[in-house]
Amino acid sequence: MRHLPVFLDLKSAPALVAGGGRVAARKVALLRSAGAAVTVVAPTACPEIASQAARGELAWRPRSFEPGDVAGTRVVFAATDDESVNDAVAVAARAAGVPVNVADDGARSSFILPAIVDRSPLLVAVSSGGAAPMLATAVRARIEALLDHSWSRLAEFADRWRQAIRAARPGIAARRRLYEWLLDGPVAGAVRAGREPEADKLFAAALAEEAPAPRGFVSLVGAGPGDPDLLTLKALRALGTADVILADRLVGPEILARARREAEVVDVGKSAGGAGESQERINRLLVHHARRGRRVVRLKGGDPLVFGRGGEEAAWLARHGVRFEIVPGITAALGCAAYAGIPLTDRRYAETLHFVTAHGADAADRIDWQRLAGRRQTLVVYMGVAAAASVRERLIEARLPPATPVAIVENGTLPGQRVLLSDLAGLGSAIAAEGIRSPALLIIGESAAEAARLAWFGPPPAVEAVRKSA
Ligand code: SAH
Repeated sequence: MRHLPVFLDLKSAPALVAGGGRVAARKVALLRSAGAAVTVVAPTACPEIASQAARGELAWRPRSFEPGDVAGTRVVFAATDDESVNDAVAVAARAAGVPVNVADDGARSSFILPAIVDRSPLLVAVSSGGAAPMLATAVRARIEALLDHSWSRLAEFADRWRQAIRAARPGIAARRRLYEWLLDGPVAGAVRAGREPEADKLFAAALAEEAPAPRGFVSLVGAGPGDPDLLTLKALRALGTADVILADRLVGPEILARARREAEVVDVGKSAGGAGESQERINRLLVHHARRGRRVVRLKGGDPLVFGRGGEEAAWLARHGVRFEIVPGITAALGCAAYAGIPLTDRRYAETLHFVTAHGADAADRIDWQRLAGRRQTLVVYMGVAAAASVRERLIEARLPPATPVAIVENGTLPGQRVLLSDLAGLGSAIAAEGIRSPALLIIGESAAEAARLAWFGPPPAVEAVRKSA
């Protein structure tokens, strides 16, 4: 470690900036946001600095730097465009024992500035030790995405309660447990949702208890269609704080790798068939873990409420008095269409969009095929591989032209994505010929043909010879 990261308290502290240009103005802004009393020394100053000086927000000495300027200052920035002046500033500061930073010059600096994520009072500083500032900036961007602005409110909340926490939990271990609960529990949820009064009430109640009974909570989370980068920030947060994860078969290891390392992962993947039985088991597990105070994540492919039984699970939790949230995910139709280059609605082809499933013995009988066979619509069929032949029959019966384009997207958004282009007449045979397996999605309608032109992800689509058999 070449540098020791520290956070300097510069409230009202005298700080010197040598230079009056735009780089200097940035240092001035940074210093002022930390509450420093800034003096600028420079023969000329940019309008920004000049106007702050005119308003009395900083002191500007309109002349060249003199070594005596560093006397009595707590920190010095050299930001002139003249290397010899910057050098003189650095030498004077070092001689006076004052920390000095020279813009873009690590060798002359006694300290360097990190890239900052500001969620005041929470601050994250990132540094590459001057070796690769672009890298630090890229890391900063990632952390920024991870720490949404609600962290600011959460940190303020913790700060506001700090004295009370110390008084109520003098022991360090009890205090740590309380803070963990504060960060991951219902209080954080309320603060994030902007319901501070509720958060205060919950927290006051917890403080009064000996040790707050952990309250169980279930997040019904949509994991998206497969590409882990399609997880929402909220899904990531739920995964990062989970005690138990009940995961579907469709959720891949790359997504589970983003979960909290200590989380227990239970594979509750249902195989086709005895689904009813295992759904009951899942319901029981959800309540079982929540009642033991755990944070449970029920992780489902795509969106939990689209052909995912999320509604049934939520109803079950509500009935059993278990608190829950529902975190939407990118459903397979949206993920597959985007990654296959298929505009689901497009002024040229369709203004109506249907999501249907043909799964299960009598599902096909309940569907109003006549309505789905109308012109200018896009039809997305979930779980349609096994039922492809009957989908084809019913749609042709309902007079959808056999030449209607069909795209079959297998493992959409994943590295193994395959797209097969055919037409309605050739649907069943195309699936058989290419050995398409679940998970795959059928996209039926004129816009499906766009995949031939707009393919951008994975291998180009295979085009099945058009069979006009019908
Ligand atoms: N809740 C999920 C759907 C669950 S049903 C969602 O919102 O996406 C499961 C079906 O979704 C699969 O049979 C398949 O038709 C489709 N599916 C899910 N992920 C897919 C993927 N990566 N590629 C293609 N189809 C997918």
